[in-house]
Amino acid sequence: MWILNATWDVSTPISHGRSAWSRLPGPILDLVRTGILGGTFDPIHIAHLHAGETALHQAELDRVLFIPAGDPWQKADRDLSPAATRLEMTRLAVEGLEGFDVDDREVSRDGATYTADTLESFPDDEELFLILGADAALGLETWDRHELVTQRATILVVPRPGTDSMAVADTLPDAVFLDMAVLEISSTDIRNLTRDGQPCRWLLHGAVHYYIAENGLYPDRRQAPRD
Ligand code: ATP
Ligand code: MG
Repeated sequence: MWILNATWDVSTPISHGRSAWSRLPGPILDLVRTGILGGTFDPIHIAHLHAGETALHQAELDRVLFIPAGDPWQKADRDLSPAATRLEMTRLAVEGLEGFDVDDREVSRDGATYTADTLESFPDDEELFLILGADAALGLETWDRHELVTQRATILVVPRPGTDSMAVADTLPDAVFLDMAVLEISSTDIRNLTRDGQPCRWLLHGAVHYYIAENGLYPDRRQAPRD
């Protein structure tokens, strides 16, 4: 198990991720090193983007693919924005950023979205790195075919407030922990701020913020008619 900053206490001096990474096996043959950052991205926000860039840099990846989930089974109990809308926001956020790409394979697939299917759809000559917030990593054991997931991809864990890193390390002993500032931001917060008419402009890429306003996503609930 590799932990770059075990406590994820923001007051702890940042350890040097590079030196820890240099002890890991380097790129094998000519395999493309692909990072996969999946999510509902409803909407995509700066913590997603910062996690992608940190993974690109610290794990020496060739690219990071942002893959919006089509029909995420974990969120079957809540209303999601349509897949096309979430895909478009993801496109707007990563457009033109070197090393970043959007991949629509999950929204194009019918039925529930399972990460195992996504990983299996990559060719063998790609070395895969699955980038997960600590909350998601902690639940990985409950995922469909989770053994396949951990065999096919190296798990890169991003710190998330409220999730104990040691608990993640216990359940995923081979995971690699990225050395990243803890950002207390979620899409839920952004949806709620928007619905309450509160500002959130700097938590998002400007183009995504504009898209939300232009398309009336997450409507202001203060004006909703009472029944
Ligand atoms: P929601 O509140 O709707 O669940 P979210 O902000 O958690 O949204 P998701 O699309 O659910 O975003 O998450 C995609 C991935 O990004 C997950 O692995 C999640 O853990 C990670 N992630 C999201 N926000 C953060 C954050 N602030 N810090 C670290 N990881 C994050
Ligand atoms: Mg989430």
